[in-house]
Order: sequence, then C-alpha cells, then structure tokens
Amino acid sequence: MSIKDNILYFDEQLRNTPCRLVAVSKTHPAEIIKEAYDAGHRLFGENKVQELVDKRDLLPHDIAWHLIGHLQTNKVKYIAQFIDTIQSVDSLKLLVEINKRAELFNRTLPIKCMLQISIADEETKYGMTMDEADALLQSEEYRMMKFTQITGVMGIATNTDDQEKLRGEFRYLHSCFTQLKEKFFFANNDFKEISMGMTSDWKLAVEEGSTMIRVGSGIFGSRTYNR
Ligand SMILES: *Cc1c(COP(=O)(O)O)cnc(C)c1O
Repeated sequence: MSIKDNILYFDEQLRNTPCRLVAVSKTHPAEIIKEAYDAGHRLFGENKVQELVDKRDLLPHDIAWHLIGHLQTNKVKYIAQFIDTIQSVDSLKLLVEINKRAELFNRTLPIKCMLQISIADEETKYGMTMDEADALLQSEEYRMMKFTQITGVMGIATNTDDQEKLRGEFRYLHSCFTQLKEKFFFANNDFKEISMGMTSDWKLAVEEGSTMIRVGSGIFGSRTYNR
C-alpha cells in the first residue's frame, strides 16, 4: 500500500469516530511526508526538535505540527513560533517556558499543550503522575498563563502484545482525563483530547475512547532504525 492509500485507509477507519490521526513522520524525509500531505493530510507528529524545525522549513505551512517526544526546556524557543500542539508536557517548569516563549513571539493563538501522563510500567518513559498533574493545574503560575491552552492528556502505553494490559493502561488514561476534566475543566470545551494508540494498538485505543491516535510505521512503513 502506498502512503496515500494508508492515509485514505485511516480516514475511512476513523470516519464516524471522534478520533483523529496524527501521522508520525519521525525519521522520514520531507518528500515522503509530502505524499501524505498530497493525500490531504495536515496533522503530523515529530519527536525531535531539530528534525521538526528542518522539515517544517521544507514543507507547506498549513501543516499542524505536534511535538510528541520529550522536550527540553532550552529547546522550546526553536518551535514556539509555529508549533500547533506540544503533546509531551511533563512538568510545570516546561509549561512555564512554553508560555514565556509563546508570549515573546507574540502568538495570536496560544500553544496547545497536553499533559503527558505516565501510564506504562517502564520507568524510562516520561510523563507525570496524576498527583503531579494535579499540582501543576492548581499552581498559581499555571493559572496566570495566557499563551498556553491545555487541550487534554497523552500517554504512551507499555510496549507489549498483551491486549488486556494495554486495555488497562488506555482505560487508566481515560479515567485520568475524566478526573481532570471534572476537577479543572468542567465548563471548558478546549479540554477534550485523549492521545493514545499507535500502529500496533490503535484499534484498542479507539475502543477505549482515544481522540487522537499517533501512527508512524502504519503509514510510512518501518523506520530503518529504532528511536
Ligand atoms: C514513534 C512514536 C509513535 C508512533 O509509533 P508507531 O509504532 O510507528 O506507530 C507514537 N507515539 C510516540 C510518542 C512516538 O514516539
């Protein structure tokens, strides 16, 4: 199947669901991404700042770029002008910097941010606990922010074939979303996203209420090396 066919396949699969596709283009060059763009796709995810900046320069500017990988505070400045959404916000310190840089660039639209919640049992994966997310949202610094907008939660499940384990992790993230929604965003329609599910488990994630699946190899083929 061509990249175009893959995009059309996901469009079809997600039709009549509340779920959107983030095409994860990391490691693939701009010409390859352009094939998905030409099939009508506009929402892409990258996990590294330098790679994202390089590709953004080479591609049409109506792409909504999502950063989905760990972001170091000192690199926010390179993407703050154009980034649509940072899915991997995992500390108040990072969010403060995002807000500051968005303000310095005088953005007309806030930077959309998602709180990355730790849902896997591997300690190496970034993400906050629910207590940390709670503390962030209660903080004075967060409440004063004008250039960021929290749109939901993101989680990276354990790398496993165990369907019940995956289902449990997706359910947990959904319950985190519901708790935060009730406590902090009750009347706020901007807080609506649950980003979960990748190539191997996106169907399960959609069943469990995902609003954003992040699919890389399922669209662009396997990456030549692992990252
Ligand atoms: C690479 C990556 C994906 C996509 O993985 P595939 O298995 O290729 O679909 C999704 N989410 C994150 C955070 C990633 O880094």
